[in-house]
Amino acid sequence: MKKILIVHETLENRIGKKLQLKINDNRSTMLSVKWEPDCTKVSLHRMFLNAPQNIMDELACYLKGKQKKLAPSVKAYIEDNLQTLDYSHQLDVSKLETKGNVFNLNKIYRHLNRSYFDNALDLFITWFGNDQKKPGQKITFGLFNDILRLIKINRLLDHDYIPTYLIEYVIYHEMLHCVYPTYVDSKGMKHIHSKEFKEREKQFKYYQEARRWMKENEEFLFEN
Ligand SMILES: [Zn+2]
Repeated sequence: MKKILIVHETLENRIGKKLQLKINDNRSTMLSVKWEPDCTKVSLHRMFLNAPQNIMDELACYLKGKQKKLAPSVKAYIEDNLQTLDYSHQLDVSKLETKGNVFNLNKIYRHLNRSYFDNALDLFITWFGNDQKKPGQKITFGLFNDILRLIKINRLLDHDYIPTYLIEYVIYHEMLHCVYPTYVDSKGMKHIHSKEFKEREKQFKYYQEARRWMKENEEFLFEN
């Protein structure tokens, strides 16, 4: 019997109500539920097809509508599995922009990968946004999308008044997000910058300089 049928049957038996089940493979919906009087409509990410018994038990409890919140263990299961999903094949690599006016992201990334990670990381990098700051805009220097394995760096950093060590630091930070993925502990607490992450971050050669630069330029960076 196909796995999806087994999951369907198991869940339907547990919740004791008609279940309409859809298995999805998209990046945004891990679980969505509509409780209708005669039927429960569920869209589940395919990661649940391999979920262990205890996760399915907790999930069934939630689908029954008896628990208001999703159990921490189910949340942790989703987070953990998100780390292993790799959607980078969906990336249109030709659309990635790595050459800026001042900085070449790929060059910096490769240099960091060699110097700090033994070339072990296999990530993509691109600019995002534009190089003019809008008033009142809060700046996000960099982002890391783990399932696309993509680092995005704010184009506001593509200026010659930005020190090279600063942009290196931002990219290094995002690379660490790949080494120390965000996780949810058994209490349902999310850890983004773990102790290990922060320790490793300090190994960046110009860590102090970069932190100091950020502090000193806070006003200029965050002013309206
Ligand atoms: Zn971070």
